[in-house]
Amino acid sequence: MTATENQLNGSSQSESHVLPTDEHVLSTLERDGGRRWLSPLLSTGYWWHRRRMVAYVLMVVFVAIPHLRLGGKPLILLDIAAREFTILGKTFLPTDTVLLALLILSVFISIVLITALAGRAWCGWACPQTVYMEYLFRPIDRFFDGVTGKGGRAKAGRSPLWQVARIAVYVLLSMFLAHTFLAYFVGTERLALWVRSSPVEHPTAFIVMAVTTGAMLFDFLYFREQMCTLACPYGRFQSVMLDEQSLIVAYDPVRGEPRKKGKHRPGDAAGDCVDCNRCVVVCPTGIDIRQGLQMECINCTQCIDACDDVMRRVGTPTGLIRYSSQNAIDRKPQRFLRARTIIYPIILVLVFSGFGYALTTKRGFDARLMRGKGAPFSMSTVGNVSNSFQIRLVNRTDQDQSYQFTISGIEGAELSIVDEQLLTIEPGGSRVVPVTVSFPVGLTAGDGNHLGELEIRDDNDHQRILSLRVLGPR
Ligand code: SF4
Ligand code: SF4
Repeated sequence: MTATENQLNGSSQSESHVLPTDEHVLSTLERDGGRRWLSPLLSTGYWWHRRRMVAYVLMVVFVAIPHLRLGGKPLILLDIAAREFTILGKTFLPTDTVLLALLILSVFISIVLITALAGRAWCGWACPQTVYMEYLFRPIDRFFDGVTGKGGRAKAGRSPLWQVARIAVYVLLSMFLAHTFLAYFVGTERLALWVRSSPVEHPTAFIVMAVTTGAMLFDFLYFREQMCTLACPYGRFQSVMLDEQSLIVAYDPVRGEPRKKGKHRPGDAAGDCVDCNRCVVVCPTGIDIRQGLQMECINCTQCIDACDDVMRRVGTPTGLIRYSSQNAIDRKPQRFLRARTIIYPIILVLVFSGFGYALTTKRGFDARLMRGKGAPFSMSTVGNVSNSFQIRLVNRTDQDQSYQFTISGIEGAELSIVDEQLLTIEPGGSRVVPVTVSFPVGLTAGDGNHLGELEIRDDNDHQRILSLRVLGPR
């Protein structure tokens, strides 16, 4: 009788306030709703060795990136406080919204395309969550807890000191990862300053660091695989990004079913699966790949290695669980060319070309000339005519810039700046500079106006030429 039937029949479940389900609703929940702690066994096969190599390289890369420089600038610095993003040595300012939007869109489309082709390759091979969880923190668990029991349960009789030591190692590593993570957002120089200073001098920095360390600890010590199965938006989007042709880690039911425990004898009406459960106990997200493609599967390949090992032991060809596609598993034709593998690259090329064009034609500054308020012109005592203007300048470079103005096409014209200090503008900053243009009376005789040009240059020799129409007596 199921739990639901028990309740309907009024039988006593009063001691339990949560109804147990017939099966796991989530792989990380017990049937009574409690947390199901996973201690996956390790399977050290072909894929595990390759993933380990990639993971160690990535750990070094993740730590090194904030320290690397390109053209004197960080390789990646996402300075949210200053609203400046430096990517591959190129700084994007708040005025570069279009550029940044195109870049982010390019990255997003690339992810969608890679997922359509290679499934969750990112999750299984390169995501920092998987890399650190599977190749840093789980090995620590195995070191302190042991792997003797079924499902990697802790060795019996270990003193509580082992657990204290394990937590201490987690705290130290979480602090290190928090520093690395923050280096992407504040830069290595500021981070070094924070580290060398007393927390009293930098209380905000200290709190940021403590909170980030706490978040790392929460993630790797407590939340763990739930980051992939519950929290990560990329994981949630898998169902729309994958199709039947995408690369997935899949169990072959045609070959494997019906399952039968133990080594099969010739003539047994049984598939190749010996129902040993190895693929389940090694799974870091706690699922059974034999139930088909599931959102929790991060394509970590542990079940492939585990099953291949079993197949070798029972003398059956490996590959019962393998990299494949849903169509290949269903013995349907496979097509590399399909709508999404044609349309996504076309969109990607278009967006990336737009980004490249916008980047190469990016102006050093924006300039706009506006006529000043009040009378259109005024006469000076020395017989000159004066027009007042306002020049709005936006510095689109990542350095301080000062600007020079030159008038052409208006004979005898002179430009005076009300406040010279306004001519120096910080990166991404904007300023309205009031100026006065004086010219000899008589220049506007007839039409009452005369057209010339105003050339503006910055320190990097970026140049803009604006039309300058002066007004005066007819
Ligand atoms: S089902 Fe296999 S590939 Fe997917 S997460 Fe589990 S062990 Fe990894
Ligand atoms: S490891 Fe292979 S043989 Fe064992 S239960 Fe899983 S699929 Fe079947």
